[in-house]
Amino acid sequence: IMFLKRLDVIGFKSFADRVSIDFVPGVTAVVGPNGSGKSNITDAIRWVLGEQSAKSLRGAKMEDVIFAGSDSRKPLNVAEVTITLDNEDGFLPLEYQEVSVTRRVYRSGESEFFINRQPCRLKDIVDLFLDSGLGKEAFSIIGQGRVEEILSSKPEERRTIFEEAAGVLKYKLRKKKAETK
Ligand code: ATP
Ligand code: MG
Repeated sequence: IMFLKRLDVIGFKSFADRVSIDFVPGVTAVVGPNGSGKSNITDAIRWVLGEQSAKSLRGAKMEDVIFAGSDSRKPLNVAEVTITLDNEDGFLPLEYQEVSVTRRVYRSGESEFFINRQPCRLKDIVDLFLDSGLGKEAFSIIGQGRVEEILSSKPEERRTIFEEAAGVLKYKLRKKKAETK
């Protein structure tokens, strides 16, 4: 099964210095005091997978993901996140055992995207994950407060959530699109 191998973050939100996290198959728990950057890790993952909404990343504009400075450090001008996925079973449609995706944003507003260090478009990244159940809209990442929302949702809404997680929703949406043509 495809799994998250590694996350490299530099200049993203509270991570001024490069932070590399190696994951192993199974469950990983991230613990730490309030405000220590736990949610910033999942923000980094959603961002590199193509998140376009600054608000959903808890900012006002995309620039807010760049390290804004602290008492002891100057603000940075660029944020970069790389996610490395194990692709030994070819789950992602690329001829690589390992797939890395990088996203960079500059304070000027300019963005850069890479798949296995080759420059690409944001769309290429979104398309790569579209059929994987791992896209930014997928429910593989459930944010704070979302569990409660899911549990208290109506059965029909809950069905949609599970369909999306199971990767069935995209077929339903495609079918619907085809029918309205
Ligand atoms: P909680 O347990 O309360 O959920 P958490 O560990 O999830 O906390 P985060 O929300 O990940 O914490 O981190 C919040 C911290 O990140 C805040 O201290 C905030 O100042 C810092 N932060 C967010 N954006 C930036 C930025 N652009 N530059 C510097 N620091 C930032
Ligand atoms: Mg949090």
